[in-house]
Amino acid sequence: MRSASQSLLRCLRSEAREVQRRLSAFRRQPHRIVGVPDLPAEGSANLFESALRTSLTQHDEVVRQRLADKSRALAEALERVREGAYGVCQACGCRIPRRRLEAMPTATLCVSCQAQREGVAHAA
Ligand SMILES: [Zn+2]
Repeated sequence: MRSASQSLLRCLRSEAREVQRRLSAFRRQPHRIVGVPDLPAEGSANLFESALRTSLTQHDEVVRQRLADKSRALAEALERVREGAYGVCQACGCRIPRRRLEAMPTATLCVSCQAQREGVAHAA
């Protein structure tokens, strides 16, 4: 029995590399890491600039957080590949359909378990 197909594995690895590359690009820009916003300098122009910079760094933080989450999900997926558990639903243990994995390589749940977890219930 083959677990993950080679193409899926390649996809996972290249995506993991890409996410790492983008994350390290963030780290190379320390001035854009969100922290305590600069104290607004005097003058409305500076105040505006300060507000703009704060919202930009907050946006960066959201993007960085998403990248970090994705990086973790990809690392976990690769870990499951090593353990031979890749493509197995973590809730019910069934095999996750290949098509779902191709669309979402980091999926850990089959469609119905995912729907259940998200509280998506069919109206009776
Ligand atoms: Zn399931």
